[in-house]
Amino acid sequence: MIPAQFDYVRATSVEQAVDLLSSNPEAKLLAGGHSLLPLMKLRLASPSMLVDIGRLSELSGVRDGGDHLCIGALTRHRDLETDPLLAQHLPLLAHVAGQVGDPQVRHRGTIGGSVAHGDPASDLPAALLALDALYVARGRSGERLIPASQFHRGFLETALDASEVLVEIRVPKRAAGRWSFQKFNRRAQDWAIVGVAAIRDGSVSVSMSMSVSVSVSLVNMASSPVRASAVESAVEAGASAEEASSHADEGTDPSSDLNASADFRRHLARVLVRRALEEVGL
Ligand code: FAD
Repeated sequence: MIPAQFDYVRATSVEQAVDLLSSNPEAKLLAGGHSLLPLMKLRLASPSMLVDIGRLSELSGVRDGGDHLCIGALTRHRDLETDPLLAQHLPLLAHVAGQVGDPQVRHRGTIGGSVAHGDPASDLPAALLALDALYVARGRSGERLIPASQFHRGFLETALDASEVLVEIRVPKRAAGRWSFQKFNRRAQDWAIVGVAAIRDGSVSVSMSMSVSVSVSLVNMASSPVRASAVESAVEAGASAEEASSHADEGTDPSSDLNASADFRRHLARVLVRRALEEVGL
């Protein structure tokens, strides 16, 4: 339970953090430390240096970007849960932040750390995938935007280069639609065995008929968060919640572990997607 030896530097700017990562390929950023430090204590990660970005206040907070909200990567789960802009424009995200771990985890953990860590059991990355978020990464050659759909590449693997810092997350405002978050776990503070985030957009078409579209994404049903595309297509084609949810595990690849077999996860996905679709009014 004692990490291997490492150097520690407290970064005073994002630029300095990028420089340190570039010149120390084995270095890792430290944000809330609630995913990285447990791995280090188990010696599953042994970075040569920790670059602590925890006091870069410019990376923290939520601001209005017009048709989207800009969320600093260092914003803590508890601050998302209680942020008035999120409550107004992205209530799904505020709610999901309130379902992460326990109060201690929510007061330390950051949204950027959760996304950059790339654990498929994490709640926020799946919600951000359903919300079509854009990730802003800053590296030596400036900033680049990475759509959530291209960010997660596999278990603990992301599109970030080793010397890039995730600085901001841009999320289109979605206050109008109905939403649902279903998280199945054994104890309230546990990780999801399976989770579902769903948002419904209801818009009236030119023919004045109501067209329904939903965005649905799944927690812990593959090596990274996944969209339940077959469910989304079924809803668009007019399927009921029951019919559409029967497609929930299509295109997924859940693992078997101490908490659940892959088959049980597939069953849970169908049940939870149905509950989510019913909650958004299908
Ligand atoms: P850190 O641990 O500091 O970093 C994690 C990784 O991301 C590291 O590799 C780090 O280098 C990298 N990183 C951090 N910030 C950046 C950045 N800005 N740019 C690039 N790379 C970066 N999560 C859930 O979703 N649901 C749960 O139910 C849940 N339960 C938990 C229960 C416990 C007991 C614990 C300890 C954690 C739990 N978590 C859960 C995880 C928690 O949400 C973490 O806080 C989060 O996953 C990581 O955020 P962090 O700020 O602590 O990141």
